[in-house]
Amino acid sequence: MTSTLHPPAEPMLRDAVAKLPTYIAGRSAESALTAALASNESHFTPLPSVVDVIAAEGARIHKYPSMGSAEAREAIARHFSVSAEEVAVGPGSSGVLQQMIAAVCDHGDEVVFAWRSFEAYPILISVAGARPVAVPLLANEHHDLAAMADAVTDRTRIVILCSPNNPTGVSIGSAEMEDFLAKVPPHVLVVIDEAYIEYQRSADGLDSLELFRRYPNICVLRTFSKAYGLAGLRVGYAIARPAVAEGLRRTAIPFGVNRMAQRAAVASLAAETEIRTRTNAVAEERGRVISSLRSFGWQVPDSEANFYWLRVPDQQREQILAALSDADILARGYPGDGVRVSLADRETNNRVLAVLSDRSRFGAQ
Ligand SMILES: *Cc1c(COP(=O)(O)O)cnc(C)c1O
Repeated sequence: MTSTLHPPAEPMLRDAVAKLPTYIAGRSAESALTAALASNESHFTPLPSVVDVIAAEGARIHKYPSMGSAEAREAIARHFSVSAEEVAVGPGSSGVLQQMIAAVCDHGDEVVFAWRSFEAYPILISVAGARPVAVPLLANEHHDLAAMADAVTDRTRIVILCSPNNPTGVSIGSAEMEDFLAKVPPHVLVVIDEAYIEYQRSADGLDSLELFRRYPNICVLRTFSKAYGLAGLRVGYAIARPAVAEGLRRTAIPFGVNRMAQRAAVASLAAETEIRTRTNAVAEERGRVISSLRSFGWQVPDSEANFYWLRVPDQQREQILAALSDADILARGYPGDGVRVSLADRETNNRVLAVLSDRSRFGAQ
């Protein structure tokens, strides 16, 4: 403890925090004509039934919300035929994930995840004092589940799987998942981050809730931010065994999920049919856009989410982003990896296709 002898002259950040990469948010639209396709938000405006409950709740914001989001928990439990003890609600699924790491990991414990995946993972893990263990994706953009199972040590407390994966859009198959679960020790929590699950249409996609019933170490993480269109309200949830869900409630910021968010979550679950119509439209556009891109000569992995992925070298990434930007389209670039573009309505998607249609403008993929 040399610091007591020579204390720093100013308040210092913890080393783990000082070294953190900052979370880069996708740029938001600068004008009404800008196509903001950098954050995987829903391009649909909020459902009227949801806007109504938010407005009604506005008159009550001088009161704290329900501490444990009781009504939303009950609604989620009913919707998925689990018990309310198996549900925890938090400020976005990133918030729930932060609670989870705080609940499960001591200093130096390891959390295994695929890379590239959701950029919040290494940040949340490091801030908690745990150790991020990133396992590269396979060349076909799938999770390398064999390598992830091998990466589990006696310090591992959590494995995070992202399906469909952000930013590649690829889902984990049910057969490979069974093999993986057979290899992972039962005390390691397997978190399946399904932020985009509502967009999944593959027949081979895993049924996480069915797995949750069979494997006590599974935790399903979901959000209202994407398909439900509530990104601006911050509400997500986990479905896990009661002891884990209770841990998530204990590590939550008091009253972290606001009243509007809680009521909007309940109203959104009740609007399942409308949400399904919307996700169907996105899935249909996804098929059309990806086939067009392939016909232009791009290699695009199958996506089960509301975005698609171009793995390209850095120079080409810059060219693509610049060409899109010239057309007033914002997409998300990842240095060293590629470009992710969110899907929107047909007209907006066509604007992107127009930019990418002349494959010869860009270098080799
Ligand atoms: C967007 C996203 C989330 C969640 O975001 P919240 O708004 O915090 O619910 C979680 N995981 C992945 C992979 C995402 O892309």
